[in-house]
Amino acid sequence: MSTIATNIAKVGARIREAAQASARDAESVGLLAVSKTQPAEVIREAFGAGVKDFGENYLQEALDKQTALTDLALHWHFIGPIQSNKTKAIAEHFDWVHSVDRLKIAQRLSEQRPDSLGPLNICLQVNVSGEASKSGCAPEAVAGLAEAIAELPRLRLRGLMTIPAPTEDPTEQRRAFARLRQLKEALGPDLDTLSMGMSQDLEAAIAEGATWVRIGTALFGARDYGRP
Ligand SMILES: *Cc1c(COP(=O)(O)O)cnc(C)c1O
Repeated sequence: MSTIATNIAKVGARIREAAQASARDAESVGLLAVSKTQPAEVIREAFGAGVKDFGENYLQEALDKQTALTDLALHWHFIGPIQSNKTKAIAEHFDWVHSVDRLKIAQRLSEQRPDSLGPLNICLQVNVSGEASKSGCAPEAVAGLAEAIAELPRLRLRGLMTIPAPTEDPTEQRRAFARLRQLKEALGPDLDTLSMGMSQDLEAAIAEGATWVRIGTALFGARDYGRP
């Protein structure tokens, strides 16, 4: 097996074990492969090993890879910070957006989503750790924003996403993910998605109900941001 196929198998085993430990069905946890900085050939190889969902943070880089991979039936997720002038291309070229954190961005995505594509799946990103530098709305803003986004015609609000402050303490990890789960539960039964957990903390996220884990390093190795 190639390194990537081996890593996919290892991450799959971690997901299954974590699901089992919480008496959850492993099928309820989706693997979102975070392919930022990785070349198109790496995505092709991961697809060959069974991964269908890929997360990208940088628009132009993602569009270039999409162009190189049109022959594959991939699902594309945008997971990076969103500037207003990028919403049109995101609305046209992605299946999911995990990183919506203000109403103006949601409104633009809805207006710019082509009818032919069906509703764009949306997660509202929440800053559960309260770090000043991180994107995501405040927990207190979730209810109002979710209500407004749910009204937008070409979006489908699926749930919440978070990137907590990094910590190696499993108790701290679970505390942050539990916060996101509770915020989702407070919104009622219509939402089905919790996008939380990365290479370092996917077990804690699954224990608290993650339905997408977003995994980069554990699949593809350390990222080299120096690549052209
Ligand atoms: C880069 C990134 C990830 C993947 O992180 P790893 O620690 O490499 O697994 C997940 N989510 C978001 C939003 C990211 O930007």
